[in-house]
Amino acid sequence: MLHLRLSVRVSALRARGLATHAPQPRVVTSAVRHDWTKPEIQKIYDSPLLDLVFRAAAVHREHHDPSKIQLCTLMNIKTGGCTEDCSYCSQSSRYQTATQASRLVDIEPVLEAARKAKENGSTRFCMGAAWRDLAGRKRGFEKILRMVQEVRGMGMEVCTTLGMLSPEQAKQLKEAGLTAYNHNLDTSREFYPEVITTRSYDERLSTISAVREAGISVCSGGILGLGETDKDRVGLIWEVSNMPEHPESFPVNALVPIEGTPLENNEPVPYHTLLRTVATARVVMPQTIIRLAAGRQTLDESKQAMCFMAGANAIFTGEQMLTTPCSPWDEDKAMMTRWGLEGMNSFEQVNVARKEQSRASTEALAGDLSTGTRVQSSCE
Ligand code: SF4
Repeated sequence: MLHLRLSVRVSALRARGLATHAPQPRVVTSAVRHDWTKPEIQKIYDSPLLDLVFRAAAVHREHHDPSKIQLCTLMNIKTGGCTEDCSYCSQSSRYQTATQASRLVDIEPVLEAARKAKENGSTRFCMGAAWRDLAGRKRGFEKILRMVQEVRGMGMEVCTTLGMLSPEQAKQLKEAGLTAYNHNLDTSREFYPEVITTRSYDERLSTISAVREAGISVCSGGILGLGETDKDRVGLIWEVSNMPEHPESFPVNALVPIEGTPLENNEPVPYHTLLRTVATARVVMPQTIIRLAAGRQTLDESKQAMCFMAGANAIFTGEQMLTTPCSPWDEDKAMMTRWGLEGMNSFEQVNVARKEQSRASTEALAGDLSTGTRVQSSCE
């Protein structure tokens, strides 16, 4: 009798095993919510760590292909000399650091770097400039619009981080083909004034709104290890998760203390805190890409793999972050192969692809309404 029951079970398993050879539609039971309360998020954050990782892994598998990791490459297109006082940043002109200020780079070296990133498997190319905003930088902005247009023309997702934006500037970036804009909130609203005093939390939120309004994907996350508490980490996740649309990307940075900055002596954030933050963000924002950003190279391979299990699904790879080291492509590719992971295609993330499609159909419509020639965007 026992033998019969076992063989029935084995046959059922075999049948199920055969059925899984065909791609299976994902069954989604965890809803995307925008009304999380802080106590709810705190409860998730405080749950036993392995339970939290297990829950986050389940949510991750409902909304994403767990074998896919987005590979992004970052380039600093204008280094140092920034007037802001972000207390973690070596590019602020207020601190004596080893970072040398430079002018906005030319277009060709940027395109060369983007081509190299693409050849190495990166599907998103991000360009960062160290300044408060684009005020008085008309020619520089035109140059950046050209960079965006050219990199997008290579079939890559393009991201920029250029400080505060007006709605009009966001619109121009969208027209040039920008996929995503990075503007981190860094930490909770309550702790923020301890870190930055030259621009307010609300100013950051209004740039994020301008980006949203323009139809660009939002990349906004935080930095751990600034001296914040668990409550602040929960406060940051609460802030972004209660936006009308969750950011398509949530970078989790671990502070890399830099000599000469006010935070040079900060203790590194404990690994379990980083993992807890990644897993909580995954549970609360199921469709968002959770990005392991600065500080990743301090994590050994098994620690990174645990973060991937807990829902992290993007990394920066290549030669350099903005001012801190980055893991090179070959090391990352070897690591991913060992763990059964592969790179994501451009525009594989559904909510990012949707924004790209709406841009394409707006352009097509504009083309139809014109004399039959496809309308050029303002910077073409
Ligand atoms: S983080 Fe950005 S805005 Fe702040 S000081 Fe550095 S470059 Fe300037």
